[in-house]
Amino acid sequence: EQNHRESLMIVTGFAAKFFHESLLETDEGQSIGLSYFKERGFTNATISKFELGYSPDQWEAFTGDALKNGYQEEFLVESGLSVKRDNGSLYDRYRGRVMFPIHSFTGRVIAFGGRTLKKDKNVPKYVNSPESEIYHKSSILYGLYFAKKAIREEDNCYLVEGYADVLSVHQAGIENVVASSGTSLTVEQIKLIGRFTKNITILYDGDAAGIKASLRGLDMILEEGLNVKVVSFPEGDDPDSYVRKVGTNAFKKHIEETRKDFILYKTDLLLKEAGNDPIKKAEIIREIVESIAKIPDSIKASVFIKECSHLLQIDERALLSELNKMRLGKA
Ligand code: ATP
Ligand code: MN
Ligand code: MN
Ligand code: MN
Repeated sequence: EQNHRESLMIVTGFAAKFFHESLLETDEGQSIGLSYFKERGFTNATISKFELGYSPDQWEAFTGDALKNGYQEEFLVESGLSVKRDNGSLYDRYRGRVMFPIHSFTGRVIAFGGRTLKKDKNVPKYVNSPESEIYHKSSILYGLYFAKKAIREEDNCYLVEGYADVLSVHQAGIENVVASSGTSLTVEQIKLIGRFTKNITILYDGDAAGIKASLRGLDMILEEGLNVKVVSFPEGDDPDSYVRKVGTNAFKKHIEETRKDFILYKTDLLLKEAGNDPIKKAEIIREIVESIAKIPDSIKASVFIKECSHLLQIDERALLSELNKMRLGKA
């Protein structure tokens, strides 16, 4: 109910302020958290705009302060900021991490992602808030509040994988950027973007996981009737590392020069995988036509059929009859 949600948001708002102040105003925050953000190239303007923070490396720094200030246990636990011990006492979920607050559509802090500063592979790199009444992961896009105006103006939304990618790309002056942080892309997230633009450009990491993730997300975007383009990055780079390496202008140039319509991207990628194996090739032809069959606009679909028939060196009519079969199967 409304009061309950409001109480939760008051707690998460308080927490954002606590973490932000501990980043900027405590010795530990400055020497560990702030210097980490500075090393990553984030400016003061970015740090304050996105309300980045630091959680002290203690068991009860945040929880203690929150209780002292009259915040109720119920909301501390439900928001995921505090965790209950068997003996009933509370401790901080986030300890010694740099904090990325996640804002709602209207700019309220509703959740957090906390990044470890340890190199230890056994420590999870990111810890994210659990689901709650104010935080439904599947329908939140990190950065949307700061991006929505630019998404409308540019009539395009860049979709990246991580918090740092959003920050670096935004800081480079490309503000129409959001991330599906922590989950693979969902239909709700695509519908959310669709309220601002019908054009999505995917900038996923140049690693196997990133490429796989982009292939999975694509068909869903097509079904929603949005246009998808894909930009790849050199292996080992993500949009964050790449934009810092080459600078804003070269980054924009890379996007313009390598941006591929998704069907052609997928076709290229699968063709490379199949090599000369005719059985594999037949499989990928089916897979590609399956993607094209998801496009609601049949004129658009037929343009892709034409382009793919060139790429795959397959007769256009054969592809079309395959497409019609699939469409009938779906109906
Ligand atoms: P960084 O640049 O800080 O190392 P990244 O964003 O490049 O982080 P990736 O490994 O590419 O990290 O992961 C992309 C996104 O997936 C992260 O930003 C985070 O939202 C999510 N993620 C990564 N690792 C975890 C994890 N262990 N638990 C939960 N979410 C994670
Ligand atoms: Mn990655
Ligand atoms: Mn990264
Ligand atoms: Mn990454």
